[in-house]
Amino acid sequence: ADKKLIVSFGEMLIDFVPTVSGVSLAEAPGFLKAPGGAPANVAIAVARLGGKASFVGKLGDDEFGHMLADILKQNGVSGDGILFDQGARTALAFVTLRADGEREFMFYRNPSADMLLKPEELNLDLIRSAKVFHYGSISLIVEPCRSAHMKAMEVAKQAGALLSYDPNLRLPLWPSAEEARKQILSIWDKADIIKVSDVELEFLTGSNKIDDETAMKLWHPNLTLLLVTLGEKGSRYYTKKFKGSVDAFHVNTVDTTGAGDSFVGALLCKIVADPTILEDESKLKEVLKFSNACGAITTTKKGAIPALPTEAEALALIKG
Ligand code: ADP
Repeated sequence: ADKKLIVSFGEMLIDFVPTVSGVSLAEAPGFLKAPGGAPANVAIAVARLGGKASFVGKLGDDEFGHMLADILKQNGVSGDGILFDQGARTALAFVTLRADGEREFMFYRNPSADMLLKPEELNLDLIRSAKVFHYGSISLIVEPCRSAHMKAMEVAKQAGALLSYDPNLRLPLWPSAEEARKQILSIWDKADIIKVSDVELEFLTGSNKIDDETAMKLWHPNLTLLLVTLGEKGSRYYTKKFKGSVDAFHVNTVDTTGAGDSFVGALLCKIVADPTILEDESKLKEVLKFSNACGAITTTKKGAIPALPTEAEALALIKG
């Protein structure tokens, strides 16, 4: 295995974000194209920090698909795992910005190319060469990409990669909340590292108390590191030997899109650089401080990808 390679598996798509908030999609005067998709954001977060990243997923062989593949390459992410579907189109999301600041999504997934990734199409040599295999995508929802997801996880694990999971709950895409919970938890015990948000913690445990007791409900014996991100309240960590929390940085938040992906990308970069951070609490706290800084910086600009920081930017925020 390549001791430094982080492979991120899943979807990449374009969000069409209205130029004004508080109006319906039909009333929006215009839209900005914002490339995204959590797994693609993580790959770019890693590359921007100077890490080695590869994205595995399927795009449409259309204008948008090629635009996204170019964005990955321009940002230093290897394209060896990108496939183009000859029939289906690239996934698109049409966003409504509500007056209260929340976002609502309408998806073009009809089906979109990412949903049609088949297990036999995967670049297994690439997946086998990963030091960390990250996933957390909507490909768990339908076949055949669900089987591709399972196969990729299994191949990575057998080759000795650390498996990193961010469930990225996007409830409206699931047939029901019950199905979402069941499927997300069905692959829970495969991961070595899991990151959930406070919202996901509540959803998956059914408890509205965000505390250690609730977090421990998500612990499983094969897990090395569990993280709970709390937005402007920072993050909490749990390992077999120690647990604690790391404060967030105070920044001028404009748009929180991609903060979690930035946090995860930063963490994975540091883990491949020095896997002993998983056993050393003071090192882990330093790394999570860095990850919190990366998450914070990502909230200071509109969109996810343009807002992902370099190492120097994150260090500057830490230095103050
Ligand atoms: P997700 O995007 O998965 O919901 P969070 O919003 O919790 O994840 O963000 C991940 C990390 O980014 C947080 O743990 C925190 O360190 C940082 N972060 C997020 N939002 C803010 C904010 N408003 N101010 C400062 N830091 C933030």
